[in-house]
Amino acid sequence: MRTPMIAGNWKMNILKDNDDFPEQIYVNKINEAIKEKDVEVAIFPPFTHLGLIYGLADELPDNKSFNVGVQNISDNEKGAFTGDVSAELVSDVGGNIVILGHSERRSIHKETNEEICKKAKIAIKNGLQAVICIGETDEQNQSGDTLKVISEQFEKSTPSDVDVNSVVIAYEPVWAIGTGRTPSIDDIENIHSSLRKYISQSRGEEFANSVRILYGGSVNAKNGAEILGLNNVDGALVGGASLITEDFVKIIKSL
Ligand code: PGA
Repeated sequence: MRTPMIAGNWKMNILKDNDDFPEQIYVNKINEAIKEKDVEVAIFPPFTHLGLIYGLADELPDNKSFNVGVQNISDNEKGAFTGDVSAELVSDVGGNIVILGHSERRSIHKETNEEICKKAKIAIKNGLQAVICIGETDEQNQSGDTLKVISEQFEKSTPSDVDVNSVVIAYEPVWAIGTGRTPSIDDIENIHSSLRKYISQSRGEEFANSVRILYGGSVNAKNGAEILGLNNVDGALVGGASLITEDFVKIIKSL
């Protein structure tokens, strides 16, 4: 069976020594929630906080379901790439997972499926699990192209010979990210099950039945339970609500 994953994408937020956001309490409360549920959690702070959050999680007595990672890596493995951070550097300080192809990177930084696929291969080679994001724009959604767009993104961004345990797919409609809008519950289930059918044709039934497909885009403490209750939703990639400790813990506990 697929163990659900709840992922928290902090984006470019949270200063250290911030009284409104004590990291130690955040990590402890998440760990308490993990123990109540059969769930894996992954936290994606900015690079600058990776060591801090990993250190706090590493001190927990039973922390094997508590993953810490980053929101991007370089598409080069090693070398003189000023300003880039390699998969190996992330892994070296305890990171074990990375978000790749988030819509903000696809649209603002013009990342292509091919670059995302290259990064995924480098990530996996260096011991990081790759959370590969796919999702349609509002316009593509309106014109009924959702499945076509996301299956192509999946196909081209996900290395063809990948081990199913090395990847997680996150379906995030671009128009739902940070907007408070989500597809209807029926639409989320339909898209996830159609995507799984596509994956089955492309990568085989075993792969499709084992790969986790997370939903992302305006998941919060109110809608979390309903979304996470869907058959083909194997967890959530949470942005804004992952920065509110009580809300994020509630989302984990609503599984
Ligand atoms: P949101 O962001 O939960 O704030 O909509 C999700 C994401 O960008 O991964």
